[in-house]
Amino acid sequence: MKAILIKQTGGPEVLNYTDVPVPVPKSGEVLVKVVASGVNFIDIYYREGRYKTSLPFVDGQEGAGTVESLGLGVTGFALGDHVAWCMVLGTYAEYAIVPADRLVPVPPHLDLKLAAAALLQGMTAHYLVHSTFPLKSGETALVHAAAGGTGLLLTQMASQIGARVIATVSTEEKAALARAAGATEIILYTHTDFESETKRLTDGRGVDVVYDSVGKTTFEKSLNTLRPRGMMVLFGGASGAVPPFDLIELSTKGSLYVTRPTLKHYILTRDDLLARAWAVLSAVDAGTLKVRMEHTYPLSEARQAHLDLAGRKTTGKLLLIP
Ligand code: NDP
Repeated sequence: MKAILIKQTGGPEVLNYTDVPVPVPKSGEVLVKVVASGVNFIDIYYREGRYKTSLPFVDGQEGAGTVESLGLGVTGFALGDHVAWCMVLGTYAEYAIVPADRLVPVPPHLDLKLAAAALLQGMTAHYLVHSTFPLKSGETALVHAAAGGTGLLLTQMASQIGARVIATVSTEEKAALARAAGATEIILYTHTDFESETKRLTDGRGVDVVYDSVGKTTFEKSLNTLRPRGMMVLFGGASGAVPPFDLIELSTKGSLYVTRPTLKHYILTRDDLLARAWAVLSAVDAGTLKVRMEHTYPLSEARQAHLDLAGRKTTGKLLLIP
């Protein structure tokens, strides 16, 4: 089968479109024929070696497809079932091995590409607004990179709760998308200082929560936009890792809270995974959660997909189609 194999970590050039054997499912595992693989920023961290795994490996950790074969002892799935999964490496390929307890059923009429596009970023947005900082109607959130894959879903979910969303984006095109997703105010943070603008928009009070996935270039200023005892949710580092900082700053800036969450810990049990996946996939199926899928590439063009995502050229979701 064709797959994108990484033999050594590095730039996009280490993504090799090559032939590898079709894997065989072991006990408790399922072989899935991949219909679409999501491309996520975490795939870049793995490619670069920021997140470690043993070499060589097939990049990608989000997919949807049909069950091809079952390992020993697998129950609850049958050949041909429509399934989706995430946070399991190896989806940039024609076939992927997934532990059965990490697979989720896809609603019968939902396009598998849509399922692949929604699952990881949708469950991320879901845990951020419902579990990490359970947003309430009337509260104000600052959402960075609001026209990105995760950002558009996060903005929709936060605004559907009734929260006021102040969104940052880099271009006018992205501003229009964030506004359509429900953002109340947009800041072009490449032109305007988002710290002073957020303070102005909140009459100096500050926001209740910042959802910051940009990291290095935004973290310090994001802290300054929070109200006393507000929460900084640092959930990524698209611009680079945040350098170590002195915890005393949390006191001087207003007895702030900081958390660095990751999806894995919000879908630890099978019940958690199924509940969160169902909340996302059923909302997509019902049309109440819109997924923007403007960037679809053949599997062989994984390098271009990574270049576009890291180059801030994309909006919404990127998919690789084997
Ligand atoms: P996006 O589609 O959001 O793409 C990243 C966006 O970040 C860009 O479009 C860009 O938007 C913004 N950005 C700002 N500065 C930079 C920079 N220097 N380089 C590149 N991009 C920059 O990607 P994803 O939705 O896949 O991921 C978004 C973030 O969420 C990532 O940090 C990722 O690690 C994190 N994440 C975390 C999860 C978790 O559980 N912790 C799970 C899923 C994602 P603009 O041009 O508008 O600035």
